[in-house]
Amino acid sequence: MKITDYLKKAKNETLISFEILPPLKGGRIQSIFDVLDPLMEFKPPFIDVTYHREEYIYKQRPSGYYEKTFIRKRPGTVGICAAIMNKYGVDAVPHLICGGFTVEETENALIDLSFLGINNVLALRGDARKFEGRFIPEPGGHPYAIDLVKQMDNMNKGVYLDDNIDNGLATDFCIGVAGYPEKHFEAPNMKSDMKFLKEKVDAGADYIVTQMFFDNQKYFDFVDLCREYDINVPIIPGLKPITRASQISTLPRIFFTNMPDDLVDAILATKTKEAAKEVGIEWCIAQSKELKAAGVPCLHYYTMGDVKTFVRIGQAVF
Ligand code: FAD
Repeated sequence: MKITDYLKKAKNETLISFEILPPLKGGRIQSIFDVLDPLMEFKPPFIDVTYHREEYIYKQRPSGYYEKTFIRKRPGTVGICAAIMNKYGVDAVPHLICGGFTVEETENALIDLSFLGINNVLALRGDARKFEGRFIPEPGGHPYAIDLVKQMDNMNKGVYLDDNIDNGLATDFCIGVAGYPEKHFEAPNMKSDMKFLKEKVDAGADYIVTQMFFDNQKYFDFVDLCREYDINVPIIPGLKPITRASQISTLPRIFFTNMPDDLVDAILATKTKEAAKEVGIEWCIAQSKELKAAGVPCLHYYTMGDVKTFVRIGQAVF
């Protein structure tokens, strides 16, 4: 079923969903089930699985020279999605990125998904590779998420890259895209970011999932701003609890989200790892309760593999 249909069916009830990461290469699918088994008590209608592009690293050889090597640390997104749907009967949402794909490879990946019955996809650009400083598309690949959205929208109309294909299968993708309550870090200002978000939605995106935020007012303001820009699709808030004191500086560095003063002060006042984690979880519970009371369509949690924390949050909120 499409994510948008779940949201419609739920009417004013807030749904819950989780995002998981594929295990590091060499890991087992069981590690995914170990994370998801306890979370199934909350009946998430869908689970997102992130996509991880290959990176290059420099390995020192015995001669002392450094060799450039490509690695993909977390492959397996599509296989994990198929396994989740098979084991739990829950929809899985693979993340698909522009980086590392030519448009033909994207088309083929989408055909695989469609044949597997995976019809919900979060369409993203992806970040720059480490050491590259800025996002560089694959030669012959898409530079922006909107281009991926357009390609999916075309396939939904039976239009493939090869214009000799007549009467091609019209896929049935429900397309999610990313939104940034505190602005995407590359956007010169919010106005420009909103303009491109509006274009993504007009190009065929069906719903938006937000970057994590720690101040609900940022989300509420973002939703208001989207409506002002005539962006009327559902906007699912993405949440992550602080589980380590160091995250008050690492998360802003990685995700460009601000930390509210009260949260930072409370974390800095703690003396143990456990106490810091407790503050982070309680903050996330309070955020979740407020968002739920405000009638958000779904609470989407970035689990990063930490099951116990999310069982606790789920039990406190749902
Ligand atoms: P875009 O929508 O393409 O926007 C990127 C930037 O370009 C923005 O600043 C935007 O304002 C600007 N822009 C957009 N269109 C145009 C245009 N036509 N001309 C000029 N400028 C334009 N990354 C992964 O690698 N794997 C994942 O699984 C993953 N999951 C994510 C899940 C969520 C919910 C979120 C919020 C992010 C996720 N990311 C993931 C990170 C994401 O790939 C990065 O944030 C990336 O830098 C931007 O992706 P985007 O899809 O928002 O890009």
